Amino acid sequence: MSIIKQNVSRIMNLVASSCNQVHRLSTEVCPIVVTKNRTAREVQEMYDLGFRHFAENRVEKLLEPQEQFPQEDIIWHLIGPLQKRKVKQVINRIDLFHAIDRLSIMDEIEKRLEHPLDCMLEINVSGEESKHGFTPEEALDAYRTSKQYEKIRIVGLMTMAPFDASDEEIRFFFSRLAQIAKTIEKEEGLEAPLYLSMGMSGDFEAAIECGATHIRIGTSWFEREED
Ligand SMILES: *Cc1c(COP(=O)(O)O)cnc(C)c1O
Repeated sequence: MSIIKQNVSRIMNLVASSCNQVHRLSTEVCPIVVTKNRTAREVQEMYDLGFRHFAENRVEKLLEPQEQFPQEDIIWHLIGPLQKRKVKQVINRIDLFHAIDRLSIMDEIEKRLEHPLDCMLEINVSGEESKHGFTPEEALDAYRTSKQYEKIRIVGLMTMAPFDASDEEIRFFFSRLAQIAKTIEKEEGLEAPLYLSMGMSGDFEAAIECGATHIRIGTSWFEREED
């Protein structure tokens, strides 16, 4: 069995058991394949194994695999920050943008969009200066502001835990995102719950247990597990 196949089987088992822990269905969690720095062959293998959600964190890096993988059934996610001048290059070529991190980018996205687009607000739950995103306190207002736009549809919240956080801290940050989503759902009377995009190679199990609907995994699909 290839390394990728072994990893996929291991990871999907962990996804299932994390879901089990908190009485969720595995189908509630969308595993996204982060293709950054991977070869076309590796991406192809994931496609052949049935994965359809692929993501890049940088605009330039997204355009290349998109050309190599023109399959209509691929759902492309942009998960990294977007600079204003790059919006028009990419915004009509993706299916979900996870990282609206400031109000000023919304004008540009709305202006360039040719059709409605599902987006998420990035929330900096840990308050780390190096991280992008709205503060937890700004989240509700950011959601409200987004409603003035016709094409931007906020369907969820996204966050990243600090690299050096303990398991306990990670769970605190992920639960905080879930809480912020609940507040917005309640205050705005939303019928459908907001998506929660959280969890990467090192912390997807904690994320699922805290309610993640989208986990963004790169490295772990592809590299031999360290022990
Ligand atoms: C790279 C990246 C990931 C995936 O990280 P891994 O640790 O390789 O799983 C997830 N989210 C974002 C925003 C990223 O940039």
